[in-house]
Parts: sequence; C-alpha cells; structure tokens
Amino acid sequence: MQSETGTSASTKDEPPARGRLHSLKGFHSAGRGFWQDVPDSDWNDWRWQLKHRITTLEQLQRLMPTLTPEEYAGTKLANHKLALAITPYFFNLIDPADEHCPIRRQVIPRVEETHTAAWEMTDPCGEDSHSPVPGLVHRYPDRVLFLVTDRCAAYCRYCTRSRLVSNATGYDFHPEFDKQIAYIEQHSEIRDVLLSGGDPLLFSDEKLEYLLTRLRAIKHVEFLRIGTRIPIFLPQRITPELCAMLKQFHPLFISIHSNHPRELTTEVREALGRLADAGIPLGNQSVLLRHVNDDSVTMQAQLQKLLMCRVKPYYLYQCDLIAGSAHLRASVRQGLEIMEQLRGHTTGYAVPTYVIDAPGGGGKVPVSPEYVLSRNADRVVIRNYEGKIFEYPETGNESVQFAPQREYHDEYLYS
Ligand code: SF4
Repeated sequence: MQSETGTSASTKDEPPARGRLHSLKGFHSAGRGFWQDVPDSDWNDWRWQLKHRITTLEQLQRLMPTLTPEEYAGTKLANHKLALAITPYFFNLIDPADEHCPIRRQVIPRVEETHTAAWEMTDPCGEDSHSPVPGLVHRYPDRVLFLVTDRCAAYCRYCTRSRLVSNATGYDFHPEFDKQIAYIEQHSEIRDVLLSGGDPLLFSDEKLEYLLTRLRAIKHVEFLRIGTRIPIFLPQRITPELCAMLKQFHPLFISIHSNHPRELTTEVREALGRLADAGIPLGNQSVLLRHVNDDSVTMQAQLQKLLMCRVKPYYLYQCDLIAGSAHLRASVRQGLEIMEQLRGHTTGYAVPTYVIDAPGGGGKVPVSPEYVLSRNADRVVIRNYEGKIFEYPETGNESVQFAPQREYHDEYLYS
C-alpha cells in the first residue's frame, strides 16, 4: 500500500496499544502493486478489475510465491467448494511476507476448508427451508431477503452462502425475478426488501434499476436495502452514474461488509463518500474472524475508521457454523470481551450489535456482556463500563428506598 493520507502515525511516547490503534487507523491507497503499467482508465474501470481477477492457482503462485503449503493445497481444491477470486485492487492489500496477514486469511483458500466439524452445516442459517420461492428467504414477519445472483467480486472463505455463491458445488442457483416479485406483491405484510446474493452491485446499472423500479412499484414495500461487499472489493464500481441511479429509490439503505481497518483505504473512503453524498444511509456488517479482527484494538480501529468513512457499524456477527470455517471462527468469549472493551470506551455510534445467527434458522440473537445484574419488581441493578454498580427504581412503587450508586458487592451479581 502507498501514500498515507489520514490520521497521524503513532509516536514513540505512546503506549503500545494506542500507538497500534493510531497506526491501524491511517488511510492508505491500495496502490498498483504488480499492475504499475496499467493505464488509469483501465485500473479505475470496474469491468477491467473483474476481468483481471486472480482466479487460478497458477496466477496466485506467480503473484505470491510465498503461498504456504496449507494455502497451496487449499487453492488446489478451492473450485470444488467456493471459487477463488480476488480483484487486483484487493490483492494489493495482502502482505505477501506475512503468512498471518488478516486480508490474506479472508480470501486465500486454505486446506482447513475441507475439514468439516460435527456441528457445521452447508446452510447454517436455514435459508433454504425458509424459501417460499427460489431466491427469496422469508424468515421474519415483515421483511424478505431477495437473492439476486450467486456471483461476487471476490469470495470470502467463511461465506455463509458458500453453498451457492460462485456455483462451485453445482447448487444451480437460478433466481426467477418474476416469481420472487410476485410473492412480495401477494404478501402485504412485507414492508422491507433486502437485495443480496452474491453481490447485487455486480449487476449493470440498467439491470439493477429495472429490479429496483419493480420493487418500488409495490405499494406496501416501504424500504429497500442492498447488502454488498463491492465498496470493499471493488470501489471502482461506485461510479457517479451508479449513485445517481440509486438515489431515485429512497428510502434505500446500503449495508457494506468490511472486517479489518486495512480494508478501509482512501479509495474505499471516496467510494463510500459518493454513496453517502447520494443520501444513502450506510451501515457495516463485520464477521468476527480469528486472527483477523478478534482483538479489541483492531476492532476499535475498524469501527472508528468506519465512522470516518460515514458508515455506522451495524452488526458484528459471530461467524456462522459454515462447513470448513472452524479455522476462521473466533470464540463467543472473545466476542463478548471485545464488546466489553467497546461500550463506554468509544463513541456509542461506533458500537455494533453483536449477534449470533441461531443455527438452523432461528434468526439473529443479540448477545452482550451482562450489564443488568439483577432485576425485581422494585428495582434494577446495573453495572457501567467501569464496573460501578447502580440502582434504578422500577416505576410505580414510590415506597421503594434505593441507593443510586453502590460499592461493588458480589451479592448483587447473584441475587
Ligand atoms: S461478498 Fe458476501 S456473499 Fe460474497 S462471498 Fe463474501 S460474504 Fe459471501
């Protein structure tokens, strides 16, 4: 990566955690790497980036002779499970000298993907069993997930939908928009449609406009959302023309997907700025990943950088029990410890909701460190981020005596 343009670098007097935080929060360009000779007009063209993706072991080896034996074996087998694809832009974020590089872990296959633990599943969120028509998931009462494609700009090795994205397993995903739209038209309780996939922003502007126009024409659909990782893998796709087209369909929200502060480059910040300038509220979904973002300093840098990119951190997902993802899954204990280090320690806007998608299709369940220590008809006993204990009276019982702040006593924890 090249040319730091953001926050100041750490100084030698700073404590190590703070120095690391500052360094992670710097904004850099992904640079050109191996593609120095490519004209700007090509490099900045999203179709050129797609056409020149790294998709084979031979290409990967040539660009990165430092592949580990695990990566070599994983890449050899990748196209039987989830295809390999990395845009040249995103490839430049990988540190070839660091086998633990957090960017590398997300997109380069490893042989561990072929090991399936007993509790892992191919469809961990039970989407197929909640699909009334192919490509439409109706799990919650008032909203649907509308899958538009099985293609992405690059493939994340922990993808919840790896059974269908990239079609490496022969899932044969063929959404029929007419049937999906007809179902929404017939169900007046559906007020919110989330377009996802695969990545909807891989469609041409015209195709996406056609789909959004049809959905906007449905009277009871109040709210449209797009889930996309394109601003991170392929910021060149966020053109002024795309933003102008999307702007016609407000209220339209976009959820991006980024996991590590290094993904938030100057190119990404500019792309997100274009979307925000088009009036599109932006949220981010991260997946808690082992040796990628499972420490509080990295997570804090990521969340604070998102705010600087005008994006509200929305969800932090516990990694789903997708087959072959154990090597990337951090523990719930680590997730809770990270959340404990966020609440009260940084801007409330920066704090996402940590959720587990209940295995088998139970939906998102928020999990949080315990702040309510006890509760009865008279009072609730709570703890703040510093561990101080407070009482708050339940309304309606004026006779209750209460002490606003108390010293820490174990009995409060267990009463
Ligand atoms: S971009 Fe999203 S849908 Fe595509 S591989 Fe990554 S997680 Fe899966």
